[in-house]
Amino acid sequence: MKEIMNKAEEHLLHTYNRFPVVFDRGEGVYLYDTNGKKYLDFASGIGVMALGYGNKKYTDALKSQIDKVTHISNLYYSKPLADAAEKITKLSGMDRVFFTNSGAEGIEGAIKSARKYAYEKKGGHDHEIIAMIHSFHGRTMGALAVTGNEGYREPFLPLIGGIKFATFNDLDSVKAQITPKTCAIITETLQGEGGIYPATDEFMKGLRALCDEKDILLIIDEVQCGMGRTGYPYAWQEYGIKPDIMITAKGLGGGVPVGAFLMTEKVAEMSLKAGDHGTTYGGNPFVCAAVNAVLDIFEEEKIIDNVKTVGAYLEEQLDKLSSETASIVTRRGKGLMQGLVVTCPPKDIINKALEKGLVVISAGSDVIRMLPPLVITKENVDEMIGILRECF
Ligand SMILES: *Cc1c(COP(=O)(O)O)cnc(C)c1O
Repeated sequence: MKEIMNKAEEHLLHTYNRFPVVFDRGEGVYLYDTNGKKYLDFASGIGVMALGYGNKKYTDALKSQIDKVTHISNLYYSKPLADAAEKITKLSGMDRVFFTNSGAEGIEGAIKSARKYAYEKKGGHDHEIIAMIHSFHGRTMGALAVTGNEGYREPFLPLIGGIKFATFNDLDSVKAQITPKTCAIITETLQGEGGIYPATDEFMKGLRALCDEKDILLIIDEVQCGMGRTGYPYAWQEYGIKPDIMITAKGLGGGVPVGAFLMTEKVAEMSLKAGDHGTTYGGNPFVCAAVNAVLDIFEEEKIIDNVKTVGAYLEEQLDKLSSETASIVTRRGKGLMQGLVVTCPPKDIINKALEKGLVVISAGSDVIRMLPPLVITKENVDEMIGILRECF
C-alpha cells in the first residue's frame, strides 16, 4: 500500500489529506484494501454507493450499455436519457430535468435558472440569492459563492455577486436578508458537510410560505440528503412542501458521476431556453443507464422501506451508544444520514475505526458522519456499533 500511496502523493495535487488506506474492491457493504483486509463501509464514498458494491442487476445494466454505446452528446436523443428523465421527474414530482456530471454543476445550473427566471420576469442584473451559514453546495465558483463556509470561500474572492447569508433554521434571519431584489433562497434540507443539521418543520414550511408570498424561488439542494437517504425519495417530501428548483447527485448514479437539476413547469417556462445552458457529457447513455438501474432497483428491492426500518434502528443504537459514552455529546440526523457530535478530534476515531475495519467520515469540525449504503441491515448496524464502542 505504501508504494501506491507514495506514487499518488508524488503526482496528485495536494487538495486532500487522504486516510492511509488503498481500497481495491467492494462487495455488498464491505470494502477490501489491497492487502485483502475487510472494512464495513459506513461512508459509501460520501453517500454515492447507495446500492453498495456489486449489485448484479446494476453492474449488468452498466456492462450491457457499455457494449452498445456510452456517449452520443446532447445533440441527439437516446432511450436511456428519455427513460431516466421520466423516472427522476416521477420520483421527485418535479416537471423538468437537466442532467449534469456532478452536484456542483447541478448547483451552477440551479443558480443560472433562478437568475434567468428573474431576468425574464423583472429584467435587470442585480438579482440576489440568499444562502445559509454552514451550508455546502460544492467547489466551483458559483457553488462556492452560496457555500456558507468562510474558509472555503475567502481565498477565491471575488465570487459571483448578489449572495447574502442567513442562519439555517432561523426564519427571522432569512426575512432580514430579503430585499426587493431577492430572486431565490437556496438551502439543503439536511445540512451534510456543515455538520449534519436537519431543517426544522417550521423552517422548511416557513421558507415555502415566504417564497410564495414574495415571488421568490425556493432552491433545495438534495445532493447528499436526497435519493432515499432520509427515508423519503427526497428529504423535502417529508415536510409537505415542494421546491421550485432542486438539485440531486451523489446516490443518483450508484457510483457513476451524474447529477441533475430539476424544476417546475412554472420556472421552466420563464428560464433556461435553447442556447442558455449545456454540457458535453451530461446525461449520456452510460450514466443514464446507471440512473435507470438505480431507480428500478429502488422500486423492486424496496430500498426506501429498508432505509426507514434500518434508519430507525441505527438512530436507536447510536442514541444508546451516545448515552453510554462520555465523549459523545449528541446524535443528529435522519434515516441513514447520521452524525455523532464528539468532544475528541473526529479524525482520531476515524483512524481507530479504519484500523479495526470500519469506514466512517467526519462533518464540520466535531462530527463523525455516517452515510452507509442504503442496503445495510440491522446486523451491519450492530457490527458497526461494536467497533465504534471499542474505538471510543
Ligand atoms: C457533495 C455535495 C455537493 C457537491 O457535489 P459534487 O458532486 O462534489 O460537486 C453539493 N451539495 C451538497 C449538499 C453536497 O453534499
